Amino acid sequence: MRIDLHTHSSVSDGTDPPAVLVRRAAEVGLDIVALTDHDTYDGWPDALEAGRGAGVEVVPGVEISTRLAGTGVHLLAYFVDPGFQPLAAELAQVRADRRARLRRIAGRLTEAGMPLTEDEILAQAAVASTVGRPHVADAMIAKGYVRHRGEAFARWLSEGRAGYIPKYAPDTFRAVELVRAAGGVAVVAHPWGRGSREALDPATVAELAANGLDGIEVDHEDHDSDTRRELADLADSLGLVATGSSDYHGTGKVGHDLGLNTTAPEQWERLSGLARERRDPGVRQA
Ligand code: AMP
Ligand code: ZN
Ligand code: FE
Ligand code: FE
Repeated sequence: MRIDLHTHSSVSDGTDPPAVLVRRAAEVGLDIVALTDHDTYDGWPDALEAGRGAGVEVVPGVEISTRLAGTGVHLLAYFVDPGFQPLAAELAQVRADRRARLRRIAGRLTEAGMPLTEDEILAQAAVASTVGRPHVADAMIAKGYVRHRGEAFARWLSEGRAGYIPKYAPDTFRAVELVRAAGGVAVVAHPWGRGSREALDPATVAELAANGLDGIEVDHEDHDSDTRRELADLADSLGLVATGSSDYHGTGKVGHDLGLNTTAPEQWERLSGLARERRDPGVRQA
């Protein structure tokens, strides 16, 4: 049983259309794959349909951009009701602000000697509902300013660099509350990966757990083996589900192949069980 709970399609900043991603998941022998595009549910219908054809269980998910003490924290949510307006409205606001900041990012890069327009960035996000810095990076590659996304982030787009403009994101605690209200389960993505480690000390993770967080992503490429051990212990001590994933982005992120890290079946049983209970409290007694 191989389970990958975090992937991105071209609906956000991955490069495979959702159906292609799901067929690839089947080809590499995954039994369950979650589609977790940034701040949008738009890839779900195609992914779910492709899953039925390819014999893979597709889990509808989303990676929500949130903020905690000024730091960006990514929150994975699974099985939320897409019709639940308070959460859908938050995601719409995040997407709108992601879109609005492109002009300012283009201005910053132009000032830095790399003429770039909003339209040139949008051209890279042709089929995406959610635009992000990876599309800016792609536009910079197209113009010959950098060789790959990694270089664009390292030199220009990461927090603190000249092309960085923050975006609106809901508070992490509020996002967890909304995910639960939407009938879903909430898992912090790559908690001690790039960027989010400062905001997510063990005491804060404990506070999130006490306020409804269901799990943390332990096995992720941004975590070295010591970090994974520490996070597994933390999950254990707080009663949180521990997940693993590839954070696949197609060709947009090297070294994140589908199924690279996976979630243990017993952890998946716990997480999906929590989701079933939340959707239908009756199943607890069943
Ligand atoms: P944004 O959504 O605009 O905040 O940009 C963050 C996205 O950029 C995340 O999906 C990351 O996976 C991606 N990202 C961050 N750093 C890099 C990198 N060095 N190379 C490629 N993608 C990156
Ligand atoms: Zn991404
Ligand atoms: Fe992330
Ligand atoms: Fe991701």
